[in-house]
Amino acid sequence: MDWVDLRSDTVTRPTAAMRQAGFAAEVGDDVMGDDPSVNALQERLAGDLGFEAGLFVPSGTQSNLLALMAHCERGDEYLVGMDAHTYKYEGGGAAVLGSIQPQPIPHAPDGTLPLEAIAAAIKPLGDPHYARTRLLALENTWHGRPLPLDYLARAGELARSRGLGYHLDGARLFNAAVACGVPAREIARHFDSVSVCLSKGLGAPVGSVLVGSKDLVGKARRWRKVLGGGWRQAGLLAAMASHALDHHVARLADDHRRAAALADALRAIPGLSVEGAFTNLLFVTLPDGKREALTAHMESRGIRIAGGYGTRLRLVTHLDVDDAGLARTIAAFREFFAA
Ligand SMILES: *Cc1c(COP(=O)(O)O)cnc(C)c1O
Repeated sequence: MDWVDLRSDTVTRPTAAMRQAGFAAEVGDDVMGDDPSVNALQERLAGDLGFEAGLFVPSGTQSNLLALMAHCERGDEYLVGMDAHTYKYEGGGAAVLGSIQPQPIPHAPDGTLPLEAIAAAIKPLGDPHYARTRLLALENTWHGRPLPLDYLARAGELARSRGLGYHLDGARLFNAAVACGVPAREIARHFDSVSVCLSKGLGAPVGSVLVGSKDLVGKARRWRKVLGGGWRQAGLLAAMASHALDHHVARLADDHRRAAALADALRAIPGLSVEGAFTNLLFVTLPDGKREALTAHMESRGIRIAGGYGTRLRLVTHLDVDDAGLARTIAAFREFFAA
């Protein structure tokens, strides 16, 4: 069956042209710094985003962890959103593997961390009661929502004025850039380091890139090796990721348009409330007790949605959801809720 899979934008499969790019890639031993395709990807993305260096890694989780471990040492602290991926969905890696204490901060409804809350969470310097606050970490897009550009600047000024590093979990940085109508560099330039996923909406099979200063990326490279993330002929993957950057950035606007169309159609169904669709993610609140039956109904129509038992359902559009898949999804929702 030709599935429409709305569970995540990580489910995309490499296109024929992308597979060809991997097939044709020149490779070498990346642990020795010899892989030309990896080096090209790293240099290109660092250059595009306005940084000195980049590091290609297997996952966004590893990329964020390496950034935290490069910014912070044992006994340091980072400020992070209470629902941020880095804090909540990465297995507590900063604490477990980096001995870095997270200081979670509640999000405002638009996903920002209020500047007063950030300022109040920074610990006094030189007092041994406290962990040393070293870093502010943000996430953009936030649950599919781009953070306001002027907020990124103001939070950056605050971080700098207090001597903190400033990291962005930009797993969906390019979605944010496309939605804001600015080059990704306009978002990235506020930060000291940025992690970008290539395996989500951009459609590469594997990989993220961490960009930052030469010094920071050098530290991250060391931790990558320590974590067992040093890879060899990774150029096969890097070439596919470069292909994604060449061909799949502007088209993110199609995913956003389809998410917005899906949100509009679902809003018109009585009993459903819909939030989001700022980019490629939307959230549907279902009537109580319908989730399991809905999941089964969608499955029977060749549509995969995230399982689970809550009433809040996340739907994600991406490279492998076309207009026909969108129409099939809308029809299947209407059919279920009309019954
Ligand atoms: C997916 C994601 C990550 C982690 O990426 P993986 O490659 O799945 O480890 C980090 N941050 C955000 C916001 C994400 O959506």
